Amino acid sequence: MRTWYVEDAGGGCRAFSEVLVLVSEKPREIYTALVPLTWETGQTLEEVVLELVLEMMTRAGVTREDQILVCSGNIFHDLHRYLQENHYNWSTARMEGLAHEIAEQVFFEQIVRAGFPSYIKLNSRNYREFYQMVEKWVLENKSRLKYLKDRRVRQKPIGHKYCYKANRSRPRHCSRCHKTILPFTPMVECRINNRGKKIHRYYHPACSPVQPLKNKLVTMEATLDEHPVGGVITRSNREERCALCQLPIPAGQTAFFGYHNGQLLTVHLFCLNASHTPAGA
Ligand SMILES: [Zn+2]
Ligand SMILES: [Zn+2]
Repeated sequence: MRTWYVEDAGGGCRAFSEVLVLVSEKPREIYTALVPLTWETGQTLEEVVLELVLEMMTRAGVTREDQILVCSGNIFHDLHRYLQENHYNWSTARMEGLAHEIAEQVFFEQIVRAGFPSYIKLNSRNYREFYQMVEKWVLENKSRLKYLKDRRVRQKPIGHKYCYKANRSRPRHCSRCHKTILPFTPMVECRINNRGKKIHRYYHPACSPVQPLKNKLVTMEATLDEHPVGGVITRSNREERCALCQLPIPAGQTAFFGYHNGQLLTVHLFCLNASHTPAGA
């Protein structure tokens, strides 16, 4: 069994490629990869990183029996998930030693190759200060702007974690305005994966911090008692009673839910259709 370390460097700097390393200390073996400054594939940064690390793992012949220690940084989230789902012997770890040294060294070599003065070095892990000097050096001269990372492709398209849907019977609290989201009204649900733990957040549609890219919300304007009533088409977890025919609506059956004068009205879909049928038809 061998132990492999996966580490990155340069992610906090607005310029130059992130460096990825796969390292074994005994026997000493080193693989490195650079994340391109930009890409056109529509992949997220985490996806690009996953691909590059898997390439290195293939070249290195890493097996499921080997131990893999991965830096816990966000940049490796997709890798963490991949290793977990594919039953690798892995865990996250704070990187010290060879992997860390190599990653820093490769990032530094990259900068020096571009012309950055090699006597300015990273001091006692003071990344902020060092990266600021690197960024300043890049911005000093138009011909160096090509070393800037493309921030647009690195921004997470987090909209796909947000979904329009109808709230069910439980009132929710809006994570933005902290007011109640009424049962059976439109809302935005956000699902975040936080270190393997699923976190849900709810928002009024107007309170959502990002434009959702998913939509499971079906709204409808019904006419009840000759009044237009806006509502949602969804299911209830419990048995409801139809406001039109007074018969039960079984739990789990799709129905119309709308508010009229502050009161929730539940109606069978077929009762709505029936009420829409013109008289004499
Ligand atoms: Zn709100
Ligand atoms: Zn009914």
